[in-house]
Amino acid sequence: MTTAPSLFITSIQNTINDHADEVAELDRAIGDGDHVVNLQRGLDALTAISDELAVMELSTALMKIGMTLMSTMGGASGSLFGTLFINMSKAAKEQDMNLAGFAAIFSQGVESVKQRGKSDLGEKTMLDTLIPVANSLQDSVNTNDSLNTALENAKLAAIQGMQSTKEMIATKGRASFLGERAIGHIDAGARTSQLMICAIADVVLKQQ
Ligand code: ADP
Ligand code: MG
Repeated sequence: MTTAPSLFITSIQNTINDHADEVAELDRAIGDGDHVVNLQRGLDALTAISDELAVMELSTALMKIGMTLMSTMGGASGSLFGTLFINMSKAAKEQDMNLAGFAAIFSQGVESVKQRGKSDLGEKTMLDTLIPVANSLQDSVNTNDSLNTALENAKLAAIQGMQSTKEMIATKGRASFLGERAIGHIDAGARTSQLMICAIADVVLKQQ
């Protein structure tokens, strides 16, 4: 990928800032309200190192991103997003940078989040966005979709996955203490994951 990391980071920051009040409200409703601030802190830290990232190999850059998120964000999401990128970095060493390679890298990252969070699909977390996106990318590889189609499908999978958390009872994270009272609220981490995935896909789609 030849896109400058700062393009992705700025685009992600813009969408998270645009939806900051909404995300804060989601995490206040069924969590403790800090998710968007945690994420904004992590994104600020990435902006500060974006020049460094720009001259790194993909695998090295993904590792640096993961370590930076891990050490600056805090919260459950800090260790989970950190884990995602650190394990994508490991997978990136063995993959070519094409759609099939990226699908494999992303799947391995998502798999590590499942392990770290002891969590899976249907538990009302970020994984309800991440897993459908990983599956969608893999489906696109299997059916030989164009990059554009793969990215449009991944965006749809992210949005559907995020929306699916609304009617779920949470079995992981702070919302799990609320039982049925969590129903009717979208999970904050599922929403920010979807916003970030759509922002990344849009940056690539604009370059096609
Ligand atoms: P905290 O819950 O420590 O306050 P954040 O508010 O930053 O941390 O992040 C909360 C988000 O983290 C949730 O909305 C959910 O998406 C995600 N999350 C929490 N626990 C888990 C878990 N065990 N597995 C996957 N995701 C989780
Ligand atoms: Mg929180």
